[in-house]
Amino acid sequence: METKFCEFCGNKVAIDAVICPKCGKQLEELKTEEYKSNPQVVINNNNTVGGNVGRKECDKWIAFLLCFFLGWLGVHKFYEGKAGLGVLYIFTLGLFGIGILVDIITILCKPNPYYV
Ligand SMILES: [Zn+2]
Repeated sequence: METKFCEFCGNKVAIDAVICPKCGKQLEELKTEEYKSNPQVVINNNNTVGGNVGRKECDKWIAFLLCFFLGWLGVHKFYEGKAGLGVLYIFTLGLFGIGILVDIITILCKPNPYYV
């Protein structure tokens, strides 16, 4: 427990004591209110504006062209920030062509720009 000394008699008293138990004098004026009601309120406002935070904006036609010409290298996947899938496309030549086909259709159905 934190303690302080009475400024009148030197008695050791609790830090938040208002009256010294030994001499009976008042130690604190209004200070006790601060001790009790203000445990430092920290407001953390981490909410940034916008709903697309952390999402990547992609141009539909760039993605389409990348997929069309370089789809077997997964370039459009890298463009969308999906590096893992991109690597998979490299090793499987665009999921044996099926992935490229599906992606071309998928990309064409997306709005421009789209978010991933
Ligand atoms: Zn005292």
